[in-house]
Amino acid sequence: MLLSRLKAKGIFSPRSGLGVLLGLVLISSALSPVGSVQAEKNATDHKPYIIGFKEPPGRAGIEVVKGQDGRIRYVYDLIPAVAASLPEAAVEALQKNPRIAYIEPDVQVRAIAQDMPWGVSKVRAPEVWGLTRGSAVKVAVVDTGIDYNHPDLAANYKGGYDFVNGDADPMDDNNHGTHVSGTVAAVDNTIGVVGVAPSAHLYALKVLGSNGSGNISDFIAAIEWSVNHNMQVINMSLGYDGPFYLSSLEDACRNAYQAGLLLVAAAGNSGKANGKGDNVDQPARYQSVIAVAAIDQNDKRASFSSTGPTVELSAPGVNILSTLTNNGYGSGSGTSMASPHVAGVAALVWIINPGFTNVQLRQVLQDTACYLGDPNQYGKGLVDAYEAVRAATPPPTTGYEITVTSLNLGDVLAGTNTWPGVDAKNKPVSINAGGPWQVTAIADGDFTGGGSPSIILDITNLKMGAGYDSVAQVPKAGSAVTIAQGSAGTGLSPDMHTTLDVPWNRSDLVGKTFSATITYTVMPQ
Ligand code: CA
Repeated sequence: MLLSRLKAKGIFSPRSGLGVLLGLVLISSALSPVGSVQAEKNATDHKPYIIGFKEPPGRAGIEVVKGQDGRIRYVYDLIPAVAASLPEAAVEALQKNPRIAYIEPDVQVRAIAQDMPWGVSKVRAPEVWGLTRGSAVKVAVVDTGIDYNHPDLAANYKGGYDFVNGDADPMDDNNHGTHVSGTVAAVDNTIGVVGVAPSAHLYALKVLGSNGSGNISDFIAAIEWSVNHNMQVINMSLGYDGPFYLSSLEDACRNAYQAGLLLVAAAGNSGKANGKGDNVDQPARYQSVIAVAAIDQNDKRASFSSTGPTVELSAPGVNILSTLTNNGYGSGSGTSMASPHVAGVAALVWIINPGFTNVQLRQVLQDTACYLGDPNQYGKGLVDAYEAVRAATPPPTTGYEITVTSLNLGDVLAGTNTWPGVDAKNKPVSINAGGPWQVTAIADGDFTGGGSPSIILDITNLKMGAGYDSVAQVPKAGSAVTIAQGSAGTGLSPDMHTTLDVPWNRSDLVGKTFSATITYTVMPQ
């Protein structure tokens, strides 16, 4: 029997093989519970209180407090009350005073806040949340389970299975899977952290026990479960770095990929400090799986991150803040932490273009990654939610009506082009005078759709005066671009065809009229 053991890829020292939690720092006392209150202890037996009076206390009221050894901190005008520290015995005495309405402890308040883990920002997820939050994309987390009661995960948790114990309760008894899951899809609320795809659905497939290790047989069963339950993305922050080639696992991954699932895995924590060598783990190194390397906040490869030609993408994997079991939060490091960033971005992109196959989605993630250097260390580079969503946005389904409203110098071109479709009212125009002239195009439409939506302005049969060329200067990304040139008297060759990029992620442009100015310069030959 082949005793292949899997290891979680984030919380182990690369060589220990023991379930030692490294880098997971419990900071739950700082983040949870939110809004809890806590009485402040005075150095003496005095404790702080707010003492409310039935009428404005006046000097007499203040003297009552002072008479009980009270130390006044505030006398308020806004409310009939004073803030003072009191010996405990004084509280009982003052409560009997008919002038006093209440005595309340001067408790500490805490900001209700949600931290943005640096990796979520680094992959540019918040920049596309106006368009996509990965809503209901099914992400299977093959790991140690998920603490599905965690207040930052519960709303997105939709089920799973415990292959270790053979039951339907994949509660996390380690922390690893809960941490990974928070990076994918911690809920966007007022507490804790937020994940890359804060509305994605999480499924816990527990194949690792409390010690962070498990069997290949359970792993394969989890992949099979994912296919049978129509999962869309599988995050595998675990791997095998031993000597055996696991054909069974590779076959399972390939078949899941061919079934349409996107498979994302931690590259492994077996990298050398010098970044040399081919040490990417299974299953990350399989052709059917996206191998994710880990970088730090300075876009540098984490020293532990595995390297080799199968590294496909990079993502944050050092000091990643996320969810822990028992309502906690903590930071962890590892390619385990990098992989779920990619899984989350994949969920974001799939919402934008549900027609994408897993192969197309994978290609977009590769094509839009931000190049970081040596492909053996970084693959195609840092996964980029903004660029990926932009590239994946399908073409608009509604045409933009382009109206050319003015054309100075020479005849005025007045007409309408529609897009997509035919030129509706294209009219020929002649330019007989020298010097610059200008076309103003106004387009109505929804510019929030549309994969890199653009205004396409076609002008055909534009006749130039003798001795002139036309140079179209299009304001695009802040620089002028020459698109078409024409010869005197012959019209433009090729016909003038200009494209203007329109801001595509601007929900404030819905239903608004967009105007663009294209400046043409007519130049003497
Ligand atoms: Ca949250």
